[in-house]
Amino acid sequence: MEYEKADDLRELAKKIVKKMNWNHIDLDNIGFLRSFGSSTRRTIARCHGLGKAMQIAMGRKGFYVIEVISEKFDRLNNEQKEKVLIHELMHIPKSFGGGFIHHNKVNEKTVNENYKKFKKEESLESFYEV
Ligand SMILES: [Zn+2]
Repeated sequence: MEYEKADDLRELAKKIVKKMNWNHIDLDNIGFLRSFGSSTRRTIARCHGLGKAMQIAMGRKGFYVIEVISEKFDRLNNEQKEKVLIHELMHIPKSFGGGFIHHNKVNEKTVNENYKKFKKEESLESFYEV
C-alpha cells in the first residue's frame, strides 16, 4: 500500500465545509491521502481517527485522516467524488473527539440530502454574484 498527500481533496473539502457551514470540521487537523494498491474490493474511501488513548498519550487533540482509494475514487465523476467526500466528512462528529458518526446516520439518504444542499448553496452563490 502506498500513500500520497491529496491537496485536491483538501481543496474540495474546504469548499464543502464552507458552503455547508460545518464549522466543527477543523481542516488543520485533518489529513487527506490517496492510497494505491489497496486490496479491498468495495471500499472507495475511509475515515480514520486518532483514538482517545493516543490523543492523551501524545498530548494533542483530535486528528482525522480521509483516505481515498485511487483505483476506485479517481474513476468517479465529479458528482460522485463530491458525494464521497461529503460522506467521509459526515463521519466526523461535532466533538472532533476521535470517534465517528456511524452509518445509521451517514448513508445514501443523508448524503444525498447534504449534497443537494451543497449544490443549492453553490447555485445561490453564483446567482448573487451576477
Ligand atoms: Zn462511511
